[in-house]
Amino acid sequence: MEMSGRPLYQIWNKEKTRKFRRMLLGWYHRNKRELPWRSNPTPYRVWIAEIMLQQTRVQAALPFYQRFLGRFPNVEALAAASQEEVLAAWAGLGYYARAQNLRRAAEQIVREFGGKLPQSLETLQRLPGIGRYTAGAICSIAFNQPRPVVDGNVRRLIGRLHGTMRRAPEEFLWEQAADLVPARRASDFNQALMELGALVCLPAKPQCSSCPVRNLCVACARGMENRRPAVRSAKASKALELVVLVVEHACRILVTSRKSVGFIPGKWCLPTRALEGDRAPARAAELLARETLGRQVTVRAAGQVRHSITWRRLIAHVFAADPCEMPVLGDVRYRWLKLPEAKRVLTSSLYGKAISESFRRD
Ligand code: SF4
Repeated sequence: MEMSGRPLYQIWNKEKTRKFRRMLLGWYHRNKRELPWRSNPTPYRVWIAEIMLQQTRVQAALPFYQRFLGRFPNVEALAAASQEEVLAAWAGLGYYARAQNLRRAAEQIVREFGGKLPQSLETLQRLPGIGRYTAGAICSIAFNQPRPVVDGNVRRLIGRLHGTMRRAPEEFLWEQAADLVPARRASDFNQALMELGALVCLPAKPQCSSCPVRNLCVACARGMENRRPAVRSAKASKALELVVLVVEHACRILVTSRKSVGFIPGKWCLPTRALEGDRAPARAAELLARETLGRQVTVRAAGQVRHSITWRRLIAHVFAADPCEMPVLGDVRYRWLKLPEAKRVLTSSLYGKAISESFRRD
């Protein structure tokens, strides 16, 4: 891989790769944390752990993990649960789309695979909520297949080992990780790679003096260990603008299951639209109100709410509408709920912020 005429990464020869594996696995054997999914790494337990750890630190996830496994000990129990039950067990972890995807995937696993997680990387990636990283983690950790994993820890570790702080092409990092993972002991190796990134090769102040692979590390040899390899940043991406409508009448809020912005978690939402083209937010809010309530209603700007969902930044323009009578909406996808009930069913905190913003301006 050439960039600016200079190799971005030096490809390691077999001997160097073997040495790295040996040192890393020895360190992992002596230093790994005892975690519940490690002591009994069934495919189901590994899957739940990997989904929980996507946006949550290990220590924060542990009590939720134990509780979730107690409530849903296997795929069948998860598939048989209602969405509300799964969301209740997930409450407090955030990023609720993860819980919804888990339940939908469990249904599919029971229906199509007899309740057993598929062992194929490609088949796993066809299940809701399972992408390239999670499929690689399940295949390697639960089924001991030599599949690569690249998460934030691995990205940083590989960047420092090769001494490059430039942004590496994603595909190249996956190729590097694939070269490193051994045909045998893939489960331990991938966990060791991520564990070293989590415990030693820290984002700030890496612990190089206790690092088992420091003799192979270019960043350490060049005194660049405190620098962080460039990564793709969600913050750098353009924010998506939305219009959110808070319709209130007689202490009730209008909620809908008719979703136009699919990635916002939860079954219920406030009437919401992505802002298209250069349409003014106020005009978009008027159109949304007419479409929702079936007639012209005055809307007023109530403020702006900023929010992030995993990789996406959102700016929501909040508008309040207060119809002089409560419209009867024949569509079962709409409900008028008292405020506490509305806040309970609206899973995304974006809507909690929008309601507060709307009431603050009253
Ligand atoms: Fe990271 Fe330091 Fe180890 Fe290099 S020597 S991999 S910078 S902890």
